[in-house]
Amino acid sequence: MNSYDVAIIGSGPGGYVAAIRCAQLGMKTAIIEKYATLGGTCLNVGCIPSKALLDSSHHYEDAVKHFEEHGIDIPGEIKVNLKQMIDRKQSVVDQTTGGIDFLMKKNNIDVYQGLGSFKDATHILIKGDKEEEIEAKNTIIATGSKPSSLPFINIDKERIITSTEALKLKEIPKHLIVIGGGVIGLELGQVYKRLGAEVSVVEYMDRIIPTMDSGLSKELNKVLKKQKFSINASHKVKSVERKGDEVIVKADNKKGEEVEFKGDYCLVSVGRRPYTDGLNAEAAGVKLNDRGQVEVNEHLQTSASNIYAIGDVVKGAMLAHKAEEEGVFVAEILAGQKPHIDYNLIPGVVYTWPEVASVGKTEEQLKDTGVDYKVGQFPMRALGRSRASMDLDGFVKILADKSTDEILGVHMIGARAADMIAEAVVAMEYRASAEDVSRMSHAHPTFTEAIKEAALAATDDRALHV
Ligand code: FAD
Ligand code: NAD
Repeated sequence: MNSYDVAIIGSGPGGYVAAIRCAQLGMKTAIIEKYATLGGTCLNVGCIPSKALLDSSHHYEDAVKHFEEHGIDIPGEIKVNLKQMIDRKQSVVDQTTGGIDFLMKKNNIDVYQGLGSFKDATHILIKGDKEEEIEAKNTIIATGSKPSSLPFINIDKERIITSTEALKLKEIPKHLIVIGGGVIGLELGQVYKRLGAEVSVVEYMDRIIPTMDSGLSKELNKVLKKQKFSINASHKVKSVERKGDEVIVKADNKKGEEVEFKGDYCLVSVGRRPYTDGLNAEAAGVKLNDRGQVEVNEHLQTSASNIYAIGDVVKGAMLAHKAEEEGVFVAEILAGQKPHIDYNLIPGVVYTWPEVASVGKTEEQLKDTGVDYKVGQFPMRALGRSRASMDLDGFVKILADKSTDEILGVHMIGARAADMIAEAVVAMEYRASAEDVSRMSHAHPTFTEAIKEAALAATDDRALHV
């Protein structure tokens, strides 16, 4: 039987990054993955394929709607070749997952393909083509998550689908009904909207992206309505039924009236659940909480002292970069170091266009905790860069402590907000004040000038270009 310093169950961004860091720190490392390709949800059916389709559909929309204004004439009709779009997405996925194979080899990490399940706290059975057993002094559970649903919905994977199926449809829906106006619903909803589908979003809460700053929800709602999305907030879905090629969704609106949506596809995107099926966690003494997450302490250590857990399967945001930070954190703990993660500084991004990005506290959180804060906001449309690229929607909002001027939260919606949020993370990591950021030179013309202007607005209400 092979013995390891550490075994990692699950090869998503949490697991494979943990494996690399463990190997870098000199540990003999194994990684176990039940699927044939490494990379987990993120690389196979999550972050990477969704962004590939968002990019392709964005190009199509630009070609149809904006090329003419830019002075680019395309003779003949511009058409979508959905099969090619999906094939390209798959080749992006294949290249990316292949890259993880390379990284495992480069770092001398042993890869086992099969379902890992605990025999006890130091032995793991791996059921793949053959059955094997390995011994591990320490184990990191990185088994991730799966789409969740509502009890009355039968996900048939043909017309009533999750994100996994939505990433490989064979036709463009005529009318896609999206249940859940969160990240997945809006990103994938926008892909098919751009390709010509009618899209109706049915959201239980009173606003889309309800966990983000309400200013962002409002602006995104406005922009999506301009793009002809039908957004139905405060709707409680009560049934989803398939009749042949038709899907009928019934919901009660705010007034308690029944509203019916008829479409040909329904994407269920109401969140994800931690995944521990087949892990046999109890055999190792690993406790789950009532939400099905692996319970961990502040060191991400489970109720079994030699077993740790990271990523979507534990509490916190279900984000790839959060899982990665936790992978590095546990590897360094195992090596006797004293790592630290500031969960307040893990940014959240929605890759719609305009993009939405956030870090730190929202206005709602500051109000709830009674923090005295000031706001500096700057509209993207006031920038030369925005006019040049015709990306006028959105704003940058900086929330700073009223007495110390320390930046407490940054919320932005606009072109390339996903990349711009990194500046806010750096500033907050170094506990910058709004004035610090306002005094830094930002290249002109760039979208990042909106950050400087919002910081000026927060400092002394002295933005220069409004
Ligand atoms: P996962 O990536 O879920 O990996 C877990 C792995 O463990 C899987 O490969 C699974 O097969 C394996 N496994 C489970 N049980 C066992 C077992 N018993 N034995 C062996 N293997 C096992 N996040 C972002 O930050 N940015 C994005 O843009 C983004 N886009 C997304 C788009 C979509 C459509 C979806 C669905 C998710 C997206 N996410 C995004 C979320 C992101 O994918 C997850 O937060 C991330 O993958 C979590 O990483 P993880 O390592 O915890 O788990
Ligand atoms: P989510 O939590 O972002 O959104 C789910 C939405 O469904 C919420 O707005 C919620 O209020 C709504 N909802 C819940 N129950 C409902 C009901 N009964 N009827 C109508 N609406 C209901 O979850 P998601 O979009 O499914 O994504 C799952 C996870 O994947 C998220 O945690 C997210 O962080 C991650 N993800 C991240 C990205 C990214 O970082 N860009 C992209 C995709 C997914």
